[in-house]
Amino acid sequence: MSLTATTLSSKASAFIEKELQYSAHNYHPLPVVLERGEGVYLWDVDGKRYYDFLSGYSAVNQGHCHPKIVGALVAQAQKLTLTSRAFHSDLLGEYARYITACFGYDRVLPMNSGVEAVETALKLARRWGYDKKGIAANRAKIVTVAGNFHGRTLNVVSFSTDASSRDGFGPFMPGYEVIPYNDLAALEAVLADPDVAGFLVEPIQGEAGVYVPEDGYLAKAYALCRRARVLFIGDEIQTGLARTGKMLACDHEGVRPDILILGKALSGGTMPISAVLADDDVMLCIKPGEHGSTYGGNPLACKVAIASLEVIKEERLAERAAELGDYFRGRLWALGHPCIKEVRGKGLLNAVVIGHANPEAAWGLCLVLKDNGLLAKPTHGDKIRFAPPLVITKKELDECIGIIEASLAVLD
Ligand code: PLP
Repeated sequence: MSLTATTLSSKASAFIEKELQYSAHNYHPLPVVLERGEGVYLWDVDGKRYYDFLSGYSAVNQGHCHPKIVGALVAQAQKLTLTSRAFHSDLLGEYARYITACFGYDRVLPMNSGVEAVETALKLARRWGYDKKGIAANRAKIVTVAGNFHGRTLNVVSFSTDASSRDGFGPFMPGYEVIPYNDLAALEAVLADPDVAGFLVEPIQGEAGVYVPEDGYLAKAYALCRRARVLFIGDEIQTGLARTGKMLACDHEGVRPDILILGKALSGGTMPISAVLADDDVMLCIKPGEHGSTYGGNPLACKVAIASLEVIKEERLAERAAELGDYFRGRLWALGHPCIKEVRGKGLLNAVVIGHANPEAAWGLCLVLKDNGLLAKPTHGDKIRFAPPLVITKKELDECIGIIEASLAVLD
């Protein structure tokens, strides 16, 4: 089998051609056209079944079309979907009480996409910096780290270090200091600046290629922030909601972010739902009219988010991710394949680094994996993320390891 081998029916090709002709070319998808999903499986338009090893970038932790989540969605969709925040609904209070109790915060600010929640957290931190920390007007700084991924808005790409996210989109928003990831000395140095209001960090860098910082990094970073009176802002959009083997990746180090950002699996992959959680001291800095979103906190989202969180708890998805993740990484290493340079991750957020003379090897391997019935996508060239829905069973995982092992032969 060659590294460019892939089979595509004329039916599938027609869907792809239409998409390429009429939609923007802002993604480079694998050549597969999907039409159905259930649990860990996806089916293409020709009826071929695949294991999903991307899970919508960790939005589908609960598995595709989870019956409880879809049930909540359908029932609420027939009753009331949107009021806007111009009026109260009978569900926002219930949802807010549920999610704040779940994560132990005073308040939630509901948004939709992940990047909107990041923007919200940054606005909150700046406002807190002025109102509570006493930073002079327009001087607040937020510290971020190299290799970060927090979304695609102009503000958020202003502190990206990824050329393809930034190049050609300037001018950029001022007020950010970028330091190396996993570098406590750099953090300590930058926090000496009294104008710093917040430190924004992913507990594990997902998009960058599943970079896990050293043990103790998060706890020590949190302690440094506390000492400098700087808000620790945890972006758990990809790492949260059981993906890494705990409800939050920060839980591995007993860290409770001052501002917590959630998204993706908060809807189990059914609709964009994100949330920012914080205590009164921070959250009440924003007053009526100063921030919002037409869809944020809509009744449909409230019902779906409650159901999505309930599924995570009822099905013990964090425990499953922890157990199966250790097993998966062990089995991948044990394959002993010379092109697997590294296997890293936590829980079921994992990546392998492919070492091969051909720079397209990771992409080629993903094509072969696809042909063999497993969907995964390379990130930054040589890394492949392996992040199946957390409802996967050990037996299914064993089958997937068999597919990976057989597919790796293409690199020999
Ligand atoms: N933050 C992190 C850590 C992410 O992984 C992502 C998306 O991958 C985002 C923010 C942006 O989320 P969205 O694509 O829903 O705007």
